[in-house]
Amino acid sequence: MPKKRPNKNSFVFFMEEFQRREQALGRKFPGGLKDVQCDPSCNQQWRNLTPQEKRPYEEMAKNYKVQSGARGKLTTTGESIAALEAEARRKQEMEENMNMNIIETVNMANRKNSLHKKEFFFIHVNYFCRDIQNNLSYPAEFALARFSLEKGVDEIYNEILSVNIPLGKRYEIQQHAQNTHKISRDLDCAQKDFAYMYNVFTKMLGTDGGKYPPLYTTKELFPVVNDLLERFCDAGDTNVAIFKVYSIELLFTHLRTACAQRVDSEGFPTYMIAENELKKDVFDYTPGIECAYHKLLDGTNVYCSKSIVKRWAFTICDFCCADLGIEMTPGIHCPAQNNLDYDGPIDSGVQGFSMNDKRAINTMTPSCDLYRWKVSERTDEEERRRRLNSKKISIVDYGKPENQHLIDDTNLNDSAEFQPPVTPSQACALPPDLDVPMELATQRSLREPNTKSYAEIGAPPPVPLWDDSDFPTIGGRGRFQKSTKENIPMFGRGRGHST
Ligand SMILES: [Zn+2]
Repeated sequence: MPKKRPNKNSFVFFMEEFQRREQALGRKFPGGLKDVQCDPSCNQQWRNLTPQEKRPYEEMAKNYKVQSGARGKLTTTGESIAALEAEARRKQEMEENMNMNIIETVNMANRKNSLHKKEFFFIHVNYFCRDIQNNLSYPAEFALARFSLEKGVDEIYNEILSVNIPLGKRYEIQQHAQNTHKISRDLDCAQKDFAYMYNVFTKMLGTDGGKYPPLYTTKELFPVVNDLLERFCDAGDTNVAIFKVYSIELLFTHLRTACAQRVDSEGFPTYMIAENELKKDVFDYTPGIECAYHKLLDGTNVYCSKSIVKRWAFTICDFCCADLGIEMTPGIHCPAQNNLDYDGPIDSGVQGFSMNDKRAINTMTPSCDLYRWKVSERTDEEERRRRLNSKKISIVDYGKPENQHLIDDTNLNDSAEFQPPVTPSQACALPPDLDVPMELATQRSLREPNTKSYAEIGAPPPVPLWDDSDFPTIGGRGRFQKSTKENIPMFGRGRGHST
């Protein structure tokens, strides 16, 4: 909430003028207006002023009050309306500038016939959690990709991050991670050195006329990307203003329009279509384009920053390459035929990523992996001992004569000679020399037919041949308890235990 502007009356304006006049003569007022107010000569001069002489100061105070009144109008949440309007105007101006700059960049490259070679930088950031009140976010992973329509994404810088997060955010982090990227904040192998990352990041961007090229991301990620850049700049001891964050939706719109003009067709009439196409993300779940960490976690590649920047590139190429006459190469402009075999362009960042850290995987189960592994995992030594001590498997083939029906498990390795065992019921039902088909041999034997109920045949139920009181169960659970109904005393005090 903005600070309230202090009230100023005509005497304050007189004191300000007195201060300026005396300072010009060499006097100093270290306490500011408080010192001026205590000055006896100032008070004396003010008292000696005629009403006409005081009028200019009163006019100044009146104007000031009018201005303060306009500024002082607040919203129901206590925010200054004027400040909010100024902020909205600033945002609109920024958006217009961004739009103009993107149009200029694309059109200039188009005029020079170098649109296919023009390089753009995409950035995506995953975060652990966001502090909406303080407008802060805590990054978990980022990917910076260099893209051109001709080469697709030819370089990526990707890192899993480790940042300090204030206490009390654990649940929020866990929930967000489990629903999305599943990055644990306790990874030992995550990158903590922001100064190092700043160097690699800026080196990859390179400068054009002393300025870094704009970074393109989706509009909803603007605050998260800005927070990451601020961390870089803090570590690099520079100002975040050196980076410009632009909308990838607008870039896509203008690229599509420029490409369509080449073949006399129409581009996207509004940037909403570009936004929608990026949101549709038709290349989601493309395998083999995620980072080393997300490769090991099933179903998380859709959230991986590295995978996302590549999918943005695929989507843009899908709409733009054909009009520029660029042949769609699998793995560069669209997903590879078999992405698992695709090595991809030069990747830096998350390399040699080790999954030895057992805390790396967040699971959807409430118990943590450390606990589950501790109680259930066998060590190599235990597993080896278990296998050595295991008994041989004996299979009984009732289809063979009694002295031959034991099959030695050493024959099991020879699958060609192995016949599935026949169940006892089939052995009885079929002649021993009949070939039993595989599907029949593996079926269960038939149950006995159900007998008719006593009610149906009209007979009284049989009297049980044994009685619990005659044959009590010996000890343990399910032990027979004699009915104690007859021992319950009549109602009285103390739940029937009174005497
Ligand atoms: Zn990833």
